[in-house]
Amino acid sequence: MKNIVLTGDRPTGNLHIGHYVGSLKNRVKIQNEGQYDDMFIMIADAQALTDNADNPRKIRDNILNVALDYLSVGIDPKKVHIFIQSEVNELTELAFYYQNLVTVSRLQRNPTVKQEIKSRKFKESIPVGFFTYPISQAADITAFKANIIPVGVDQLPMIEQTREIVRSFNHTYKEVLVEPNAILPSNSACLRLPGIDGNAKMSKSLDNCIYLKDDSKEVKKKVFSMYTDPLHINVSDPGHIKDNTVFTYLDAFSTEEDFRLFYPEFKNLDELKKAYQKGGIGDMKIKNFLYQILEKELNPIREKRKYYEQHLDEVYQILKEGSLYAKQKANQTLTMVKQAMQIDYFTNDNLKKEFLNNK
Ligand code: ATP
Ligand code: MG
Repeated sequence: MKNIVLTGDRPTGNLHIGHYVGSLKNRVKIQNEGQYDDMFIMIADAQALTDNADNPRKIRDNILNVALDYLSVGIDPKKVHIFIQSEVNELTELAFYYQNLVTVSRLQRNPTVKQEIKSRKFKESIPVGFFTYPISQAADITAFKANIIPVGVDQLPMIEQTREIVRSFNHTYKEVLVEPNAILPSNSACLRLPGIDGNAKMSKSLDNCIYLKDDSKEVKKKVFSMYTDPLHINVSDPGHIKDNTVFTYLDAFSTEEDFRLFYPEFKNLDELKKAYQKGGIGDMKIKNFLYQILEKELNPIREKRKYYEQHLDEVYQILKEGSLYAKQKANQTLTMVKQAMQIDYFTNDNLKKEFLNNK
């Protein structure tokens, strides 16, 4: 079996440090290790329209932003095909056929969609397209026979839904599709990075993000406004780690090298946590430490972004070529799917031949 990697992001805004630790870092790692046959990254514009139908400009404006984010974190267009979802219309057709294999009650049980419906405040007016986006995501994955999907933890229900569709399709028609596996970050703090407001998830739609393209001043402002421990009023008070977002970020980002560079009083995060819990360490101090770590991580990303911002023609070409390549690949799968479903009427005039044979 081939190893095919696929992931994607919705162009609803610039990518943030939650995407970075939750999925982008793993993509770059997989890309650089090179143990795959083909690798795709999709800008999911059609999916983004499912809850932004009235704001197409927002989606359009963010296509290049997201592409720049990919390239600036080190996605190499020589190794990875970056494409735009709506350019591959085969995906929509696959999703339409897969809809027959999923029940309404199964969709209603999807915990991520349930959560998103709540946070987007749809109430009774949930767009059908949004409700069914896990099916469309199954089409995106299976169209490329992708088996390796580096994602954040909120995507696990989508991967499970995809696996169910694959099993159902292969069982009902013919063994055509491949079951995917999610690749999650190994560091548990990176599975779902909280927002700077302490909300359970940093999310473009919740506007609680530190973006990869934020400049130093913005990052500083955001870090220093972050939610910590409401009971930690005086520096000498004992501090709490649990639900303290600054510590969750330190869990996600800090290394022993960072301690050597920026906080040599402590050897590692465990030592700092103990001291904070005892009392005597001010929130400003740990925020400043986090700020320095983030700056160290973000500076090279900003540099790469600058290069690509000045070479937009290159970025445009990467997207065009990636989309064409993806379309060819998805078309091969769609042909096999239609054949398995017996809706390939004109291939070799088969339908006519069968009709004549049955007479
Ligand atoms: P939106 O609010 O529009 O849904 P989003 O911020 O959730 O945007 P997506 O484009 O939906 O971003 O997600 C892209 C990828 O990034 C997915 O694999 C998702 O699991 C991962 N991801 C998103 N937010 C986080 C986060 N806070 N922590 C870890 N991974 C994340
Ligand atoms: Mg999302």
